Amino acid sequence: MTSDNLPSLRETLDAHGLLAKKSFGQHFLLDLNVTRKIVRLAGPFEGRSVIEVGPGPGGLTRALLESDAGQVVLVEKDPRFLPLLAELDDGTGRLVTVEADALKVDEAALVAGPAHVVSNLPYNVGTPLLIKWITGPWMPQALTLMFQKEVAERIVAEAGDDAYGRLAVIAQAVCEARIVMHLPAAAFTPPPKVASAVVHLIPRPDRPDRATLKRLETVTAAAFGQRRKMLRSSLKQLGGAALCEAAGVDPDNRAEVIDGAGFLRLAQALGQG
Ligand code: SAM
Repeated sequence: MTSDNLPSLRETLDAHGLLAKKSFGQHFLLDLNVTRKIVRLAGPFEGRSVIEVGPGPGGLTRALLESDAGQVVLVEKDPRFLPLLAELDDGTGRLVTVEADALKVDEAALVAGPAHVVSNLPYNVGTPLLIKWITGPWMPQALTLMFQKEVAERIVAEAGDDAYGRLAVIAQAVCEARIVMHLPAAAFTPPPKVASAVVHLIPRPDRPDRATLKRLETVTAAAFGQRRKMLRSSLKQLGGAALCEAAGVDPDNRAEVIDGAGFLRLAQALGQG
């Protein structure tokens, strides 16, 4: 399916009299060259399902429908877009639209097999959605997600970087993560105040189990909660220097210099304590 014989996204928005709502984090991508590029970076899908959160007027959806996705499942909270998205439905069942809050939706009930997530995320719920997908019981095949640039940098940061913190440790414990595209504010309608970046995440086959991940969340919350303190002090409630020594981590170091492997050893040591 190609989008060439459909009216432009701007014409569609005008025809439906739709204006962006700030409360829903609505900043639209109306240039199909941009959305096609994001979909190329996200794929190939090889017949698998793709979940798109927040399709809005459907710029990314149109590009997904042109791709090799077997099914495209849309989760949109704003009902105003449903009639407009229905115009993209060819009646074959390949496009499924669900009106729901993506934070509350059970993805396992939406798709039968392995699925990718591709989304130009609403900025206000981008991080909680990422945490839900990488720590929850339902694990996607891959995620290709637009974030505000600063959040993207926090996801891919390495130990010692200014942006390094809990989000980097948890995201990278579960996934390989890299920034695959940068977009200026002017690429969106209406333009947000900040620049954006697309992050591609692929879950690791050797990712920690959920119990270890829970402990990783506990350790990183304590360590980065007081990031200027030495670990012997910031981790005091969890075992302090003894925990660090069991994990082979220097207790006189601060959280910001401990790499992902070090945090993982701390989480494992916490489980054995
Ligand atoms: N994908 C479209 C595009 O690229 O032009 C729109 C992206 S816009 C940044 C975010 C979209 O997510 C909006 O359509 C908004 O209504 C929707 N949205 C906001 N919060 C949501 C939530 N909790 N669950 C599902 N959709 C949500």
